[in-house]
Amino acid sequence: MPSGVYLHIPFCRSRCSYCDFATDVYRSNDAVDRYVNALCAEIRGGAAHLGEHDGIRSDAAGRIIDTIYFGGGTPSLLEPEQVEKILTCILSVFSVASGAEITMEMNPATVTLETLRDYKNLGINRASFGVQTFDDRALRLLARGHDANDARETFRMLRGSGFENVSFDLIAGLPNQTLQDWERNLDEAIDLRPEHLSLYLLEIHEGTPLAEQVRSGRQPQPDEDLAAAMYETMLDRLGTAGYEQYEISNFSKAGFASRHNTKYWTMEPVFGFGVSAHSFDGAERYSNDRDTASYVASIENGGSAEIERTAVDLGSETVFLGLRLTEGIDLGSYRERFGTDLAGRCAELEDKGLVEISDGRLRLTRKGMLFSNEVFAEFV
Ligand code: SF4
Repeated sequence: MPSGVYLHIPFCRSRCSYCDFATDVYRSNDAVDRYVNALCAEIRGGAAHLGEHDGIRSDAAGRIIDTIYFGGGTPSLLEPEQVEKILTCILSVFSVASGAEITMEMNPATVTLETLRDYKNLGINRASFGVQTFDDRALRLLARGHDANDARETFRMLRGSGFENVSFDLIAGLPNQTLQDWERNLDEAIDLRPEHLSLYLLEIHEGTPLAEQVRSGRQPQPDEDLAAAMYETMLDRLGTAGYEQYEISNFSKAGFASRHNTKYWTMEPVFGFGVSAHSFDGAERYSNDRDTASYVASIENGGSAEIERTAVDLGSETVFLGLRLTEGIDLGSYRERFGTDLAGRCAELEDKGLVEISDGRLRLTRKGMLFSNEVFAEFV
């Protein structure tokens, strides 16, 4: 089974008010160079133990990967030479399948046409583009550091540089956003015809400036009923526009589902490198330090940045990750693999209208997608 590789690039121009990812404000190209060197050292050193647990291989040499994902942070702050260095390092350790999906997360106003052409020439063939909203007022509130025209212009440049597989991220349920505002955002995204859309409901994370603004009453509490209406509208509009929903928050034109992210939901191995990166090797999950300075120091001192490792309850995770996909879970295969009759455990969820069983598969209903945490809690 081919694996995936995730690379975390923690640098951002500034910090958005809702963000709780492991990120640092971009300070200098030298700091990024140092981080890239640490990342490459981790890939070369860390790769030695890959496969220890799956019994297929005892070394990384020749291990096949068919997806590479630059996430962040804002990976599009990397110079093309830095991207090239990382890719060269990956190629020296892994066997990259021809036709591999190589994605880079990009933010508006961080790239030029020339940079995008360079990325494309290096083999980046998919862009995951952080639009979030086309509303300038909301962008200011979120401290995104760009406006809607920057997003439109960056998208034009992506097309102009030959990117034929572009995904947009949009957020619903922003403070003071009405259903009509959300519909306008959906319409503009659809009009631009990206191949893929990831649409999330805003989550307020403790410790972020936005959480403080909500607590102090300067911004309203999220409205759950409105968020549900936005989710329903999104399903209807995107379906009508020819986008297929394949996961709770992800939609694509035929053939453009994210191959990398699908690995997380189907529990294929993904090896993560960089600060805060998470890995799953088929049996265990493990993760790196969330602090960039201590991550770099650990690697530079010849050590490991790993801070946590846990065995995975495969039966449980197969259910709550698999249920995120609209194709759901094949009950017969599950019974064969884990010896459990899932249908018997789902009667109550079925009665509540949260899951349905058809063609031998267990799936979330529309209502179940909205209340997915309630469903997943049944299987933890
Ligand atoms: S651009 Fe993304 S990763 Fe960076 S601060 Fe904003 S939300 Fe966080």
